[in-house]
Amino acid sequence: MSADTLEKSPFVLALAEVRRVQQISPSFVRVTFGGVELDEFGTPGDVFDTRIKIVFPPASGVLPAIDRGADDWWSAYLAFPESERGSMRTYSIRELKADAAGTEVVVDFVLHLAPGLTGPASLWASRAEPGDAVLLVGPRRGRPERGGIEYAPGTASRVCLVGDETAAPAIARILEDAPRSLRGVAFIEVPSAVDVLSIDAPAGVDVHWLPRGDAAHGLRLIPTVLDHLGSGSSGGEIVVQDAEGEDLVWETPVYSGLGEELASEGSHDDRYFWIAGESGVVTTLRRHLVKGMGIDRAQVAFMGYWRRGVAMRG
Ligand SMILES: Cc1cc2nc3c(=O)[nH]c(=O)nc-3n(C[C@H](O)[C@H](O)[C@H](O)COP(=O)(O)OP(=O)(O)OC[C@H]3O[C@@H](n4cnc5c(N)ncnc54)[C@H](O)[C@@H]3O)c2cc1C
Repeated sequence: MSADTLEKSPFVLALAEVRRVQQISPSFVRVTFGGVELDEFGTPGDVFDTRIKIVFPPASGVLPAIDRGADDWWSAYLAFPESERGSMRTYSIRELKADAAGTEVVVDFVLHLAPGLTGPASLWASRAEPGDAVLLVGPRRGRPERGGIEYAPGTASRVCLVGDETAAPAIARILEDAPRSLRGVAFIEVPSAVDVLSIDAPAGVDVHWLPRGDAAHGLRLIPTVLDHLGSGSSGGEIVVQDAEGEDLVWETPVYSGLGEELASEGSHDDRYFWIAGESGVVTTLRRHLVKGMGIDRAQVAFMGYWRRGVAMRG
């Protein structure tokens, strides 16, 4: 890595343009972004669950004209009046392609378009066309901090990856970037059977897609995971917790949104759990795993990716 790369901010703010739009299932739209400003965006092969921020244009259609090369672009962004700032949301990189022709960033957007249950990102994705512009914020290529990556299995030889449709892109990327020797299981709840997507997972990882149909979020995922772990949930009724406040649950081995004491390092007990999706569903799983089954929090990353009834900010 050059000294120049280390001197720059660990994050890149880039203007990106839609190159391709593909409706890959009824609930997912795959958007490929390109542009010269993506040349230092992300590290191919080391993407895993990297989170990125996307700024969608405000009603005027005009993105805030920030000096993207400035060190303090975040303050510059916040200095814009809210009506001109557009909407910032968090997404995962489904694929990062970098070659002599440049870099392309692929994002799989979940379409949630029902009246009252939609938001600027989902709406934008449903109408995206080649040539549309957004701002992308993501880690600078080759930086040692590996900004935005939570997946950290340590020395665990088995993983248990759990998520809903919003976590499907991250789970897919984790499995495609992981060593081919990885063993474990993935449970992914999606709206319907036609939303099952293709993942090039290591042979030792069983990927289970769980179409929820008319059931509420989590009601297929939670009992399936608990049964897999042998906690005998099938007898009792599952109640999905409605987490309080507007914050997303974010409890990982290295960070506690609740301010809980962090577990000591390196006790992955040979199995690492990565759990993401609707915050109430993740909170419910956390209660069962940590409080009910006594699984050490050092083995688990619990991440709320969205909240039922709450619009995300930044
Ligand atoms: C680290 C991270 C990675 C993420 N990766 C992805 C990704 O790769 N793909 C992806 O699609 N999402 C991903 N998300 C989730 C995404 O950021 C949220 O779904 C976000 O709320 C979408 O913004 P919006 O403008 O469409 O809706 P908002 O304005 O935030 O919310 C408006 C309404 O829509 C509801 N809503 C939001 N999301 C959903 C949903 N999925 N289904 C049903 N109702 C919903 C809200 O509860 C609210 O009532 C990720 C989130 C995080 C934190």
